[in-house]
Amino acid sequence: MEQQVQLLPLSAGDQLWAHAIAMETGIQVASCYQCLRCTNSCPVSTFMDIKPHQAVRLVQFGQREKLLESSAVWVCLSCEMCSTYCPNEIDVAGLMNHLKNSVISSGRKPAEKEIALFHEIFLDVLHKYGRINDLQLMQRYKWRLLTAGNLPPLDEVRKDVKLGMSLFRRKRLRLLPERSRAVKEIRALLHHYGR
Ligand code: SF4
Ligand code: SF4
Repeated sequence: MEQQVQLLPLSAGDQLWAHAIAMETGIQVASCYQCLRCTNSCPVSTFMDIKPHQAVRLVQFGQREKLLESSAVWVCLSCEMCSTYCPNEIDVAGLMNHLKNSVISSGRKPAEKEIALFHEIFLDVLHKYGRINDLQLMQRYKWRLLTAGNLPPLDEVRKDVKLGMSLFRRKRLRLLPERSRAVKEIRALLHHYGR
């Protein structure tokens, strides 16, 4: 549900935050004039507590804590529609990614733990093989949920098995992971972006 954005008192670090983001990522939020094109083009903005245009505004106002505690950064699919439609070429998708990474690197608990876990395992599999193997990704994800004490309802397990069998029959599910020939380049890219 969308939050009413309340501004909090700023520390000196918060005031310099937009500048630090610009230095680190090249993303300049100062030119945003709140036209809302980013939010209107976002396929999941209705599920976000802080909408993309609000996220940009909060960075302008140095509201670091509010953003790092939000679930919006995890709901973001990195589809880049917002960046594509921004008339001022602000990379809103890159900003969302940067916020995700900041949550993890600052040792905070992600507001959406299961999405954060999925994200972590996705990157692990990508790092290992240079491509995604759906079966391995889902096995690892479900196993981690299970060992954290999240027992799935029987109905959900049945649905997963049925879906897996159907994909396998259509040759859409590979049992064994294959390594991409570009695995080294992909690892270098992941490393470049802080992994
Ligand atoms: S589309 Fe660009 S200028 Fe418009 S609100 Fe979003 S970030 Fe700001
Ligand atoms: S990258 Fe994220 S914020 Fe931007 S349009 Fe896609 S889902 Fe929405």
